[in-house]
Amino acid sequence: MSTADKLALYVLPTYAQFAVAPVRGEGTLLWDADGKRYLDFCSGLATCTLGHGETALSRAITRQATELIHCSNLYQIDKQAELAGILVEECLQLPGRVFFSNSGAESNDGLIKLARRFGHARPDAEGKARYEVITFRQSFHGRTIGGIAATGQDKVKEDFDPLLPGFRHLELNDLDALAAAIRPETCAILLEAIQGEGGILPTTSGFLEGVAALCRQHDILFMLDEIQCGLGRTGNMAGWRSITPEPVPDAVSWAKGMGGGFPIGGFWVSERALGQGENPLFSLMGPGSHGSTYGGNPLACAAAIAVLREVLDQDLPRRALEHEQVIREAISSWNHPAITEVRGSGLLLGVGLEVSALPTPKGTTASVHLSRELARAGLLSPPAGPETVRLMPPLTVSPSEIGEALTLFHGVLDQICA
Ligand SMILES: *Cc1c(COP(=O)(O)O)cnc(C)c1O
Repeated sequence: MSTADKLALYVLPTYAQFAVAPVRGEGTLLWDADGKRYLDFCSGLATCTLGHGETALSRAITRQATELIHCSNLYQIDKQAELAGILVEECLQLPGRVFFSNSGAESNDGLIKLARRFGHARPDAEGKARYEVITFRQSFHGRTIGGIAATGQDKVKEDFDPLLPGFRHLELNDLDALAAAIRPETCAILLEAIQGEGGILPTTSGFLEGVAALCRQHDILFMLDEIQCGLGRTGNMAGWRSITPEPVPDAVSWAKGMGGGFPIGGFWVSERALGQGENPLFSLMGPGSHGSTYGGNPLACAAAIAVLREVLDQDLPRRALEHEQVIREAISSWNHPAITEVRGSGLLLGVGLEVSALPTPKGTTASVHLSRELARAGLLSPPAGPETVRLMPPLTVSPSEIGEALTLFHGVLDQICA
């Protein structure tokens, strides 16, 4: 039986899959069982930061697996302490505390719990606990019950109601609408500095600063979902700093690129005082308030340490910015009628499609059709929404691989449009 047949027989069909079945990888390259080669500009959806088969990461995992895989957060985990130190001191460079999870949605659930605690600690004028978290349309915050309530896309919520209450979705980059929408029950704003799944949609100049200012003014938490855009991919260890260096968040969530493909996530909570002369914000999440059996176990932490050390020591964010320039210049030089623009930062890039110029079979979208044809030609470039395909190779991608991917991309576009 083929892999596709076995999957159809035994695995819940929650994904519309491409006809691609990789069994081996090296750097930016993947091969299927028949030896067909792919350039991986998907990177496990911005996850395989160092590419496939990378030595530092596989050695760290192997070594840790022989020493200690798991032991419980009831005991002190040295690798967890080391990883949290790297995240706080070298990645964010902002004082605070980290909680470790196993995925992005779990990290955001942690932020939602923090927001609810904050709403109890800092109630409204009548003494009622605040609870509402404002998020934005086209956002994506995960597939848990908390995550789908936070997400600003109807398709993830369909027939899962009643949803977790206490969320409202506003138009991204509309500060006036946000200022008008904040009400007594609002206790937090959660957003991606560059929306990933929604279509690589960056926040515009001044928006994050404006959100931060409104949060200060109304005593609201300013929380950033850095699950796709964080930890180096956009050209900065803090994704939002590739848009603006200024605003200081109260909390940040991570996952995806953090473990280079090994499942790990986490969130950071600021050390700033809750109010005048009060305890630090992170003190809201004291003993017993939250937990995860696997979260931050020695094996996962060893993997993430290896990934972040490579990203930091090789200055991969700087290289991501150099690659971005090359990609932008090449695509703009094509002047292709089917391309509207390139959005994003570093190696979190979205190619916007002119749907009317891209003949698309019935029952599919322009982005899925293009992604399929690209995969057939040997380039994995996943869709993000109906009108965007993403270019997000490993941060270790080589200039010649970028060149090859661009040539394939251009050729396939011409072929579809011919
Ligand atoms: C992928 C993603 C998530 C969900 O992460 P999982 O690990 O799939 O739970 C949440 N937020 C953003 C911005 C993401 O890109």
